[in-house]
Amino acid sequence: MADTFQNYIGGTWQPAASEATFANVNPARTSDVIGHFPQSSAQDVDAAATAAREAFASWSRTPAPQRGEILRHLGDVLTERKADLARAMTREMGKPFFETKGDVQEAIDTAYYAASETRRLFGHTVPSELPSKFNMSIRRPVGVVGVITAWNFPVAVPTWKMFPALAAGNTVVFKPSEDAPHSGMLLVQAMLDAGIPPGVINLVQGAGEAGQALVEHPQVNAITFTGSTETGSKIGEVCGRMHKRLSLEMGGKNPMIVMEDADLDLALDGIVWGAYGTTGQRCTATSRLIIHEDVHDEFVGMIQAEAEALTLGYGNDDDTEMGPLINQAALDKVTNYIQIGQDEGATLLFGGQRATGDGLDEGFFFQPTLFTDVTPEMRIAQEEIFGPVLSVIKVSSYEDAVEIANSTKYGLSSAIYTQNVARAFQAMHDIEAGITYVNGPTIGAEAHMPFGGVKETGNGHREGGWEVFDFYTETKTVYVDYSGQLQKAQIDNVED
Ligand code: NDP
Repeated sequence: MADTFQNYIGGTWQPAASEATFANVNPARTSDVIGHFPQSSAQDVDAAATAAREAFASWSRTPAPQRGEILRHLGDVLTERKADLARAMTREMGKPFFETKGDVQEAIDTAYYAASETRRLFGHTVPSELPSKFNMSIRRPVGVVGVITAWNFPVAVPTWKMFPALAAGNTVVFKPSEDAPHSGMLLVQAMLDAGIPPGVINLVQGAGEAGQALVEHPQVNAITFTGSTETGSKIGEVCGRMHKRLSLEMGGKNPMIVMEDADLDLALDGIVWGAYGTTGQRCTATSRLIIHEDVHDEFVGMIQAEAEALTLGYGNDDDTEMGPLINQAALDKVTNYIQIGQDEGATLLFGGQRATGDGLDEGFFFQPTLFTDVTPEMRIAQEEIFGPVLSVIKVSSYEDAVEIANSTKYGLSSAIYTQNVARAFQAMHDIEAGITYVNGPTIGAEAHMPFGGVKETGNGHREGGWEVFDFYTETKTVYVDYSGQLQKAQIDNVED
């Protein structure tokens, strides 16, 4: 009998007000029910937002370095729990254990990084244009932050949002994906065990309706969202209407350019990890290979040999290199794109089917897949498939490669493999993306570097790095006039 889990609101674990629940299963072994989780409604969201609002008064006044001490301890707690947490995440969302350990490590790095920044929440001090006057800016927290996340990085991505939000003095209501509620719960438990006070973090499980209620709640001042561009657009409309601060991290169709002078062995490691790691279910997955015609046939053959040798299986088994897709809907979506690609005239070189066989029949496994003869306007070159499907586009010049790389509505990550330094620097400027890797795959974010995308991937904000604190703080400008008289800026100090 699977366990039943609860929301965490205002310092107590509790079921949804309606007592409704939903079941979550292991995508590699669907008979393995992980648990039953609260199917929360607007009523639960209201309770959580109210608790977060109440807790804001004391948390926002706690000296930032004291908040940082709790976050540093949280890094220690996550370090102790790294293996156990990773095992649970693999069971819940399918990626192999070595990948979920990396996911937790990113959370640990983020905890220590956010803790360190609590001693550096800088404003500016600048000269005044008037005598005996002092000008500075300070940072204030925004208030209650609603955190809505996808399932594919079920610990790292929520921590990118929650840890800097808490460091800056905000309180949080967290709505994990309904495909990763257990990982979300274990993360919140770690936060509580590290000393995050009641009400400062609140957990509301549930489906999109709970997320929507969080977005629409008047007590929630800011929303930070990671998920599909479609959902992000809906959230953007509500936040625009309600004048809410909003950070969106959405889909990608990330290109890797491989030029004729590339180190092909190096690029091979990059493309296999970029396209088939996490079963292609990463916002930064490499889903387009844009390759010079001189090395096309050789390189595609190299990929086929590597990809077909990947071991598919349950991610908690030692030899597994690629896990399942997340659910039946994902399996249907990827299968549908195989048909779309063939109908468009692309060549299905390998893969293209549900993977079956020993240990696979009970999960949502899909073969590593590659299409050649893809042209830039095809749907398989334009739309996010979110599965282990690589579309290969042949080009004859760097200029064509860049033009094609820039020809989608997305702009998250990108990569170029070349040994020509001048061309690498040119690509850094030419490619329309939030991230460009030179001689590395499209994935590999580090906690202290900005992360985010342009065009329809994002709305101008960044996670990670120093930039994230701009989102989680309001700037207040302060003037101190110690002249003892009224001084009129732009009037008293300028002669006509
Ligand atoms: P979804 O957009 O379906 O869901 C994301 C989150 O939003 C989930 O918690 C979901 O709840 C919730 N949600 C759904 N509808 C609403 C709504 N109307 N209002 C508020 N919240 C809502 O994305 P997926 O879970 O399918 O995740 C995959 C997507 O995430 C891909 O497009 C991927 O590229 C993107 N992603 C982007 C990243 C980035 O940093 N740019 C990183 C990781 C993923 P529920 O789960 O119950 O549906």
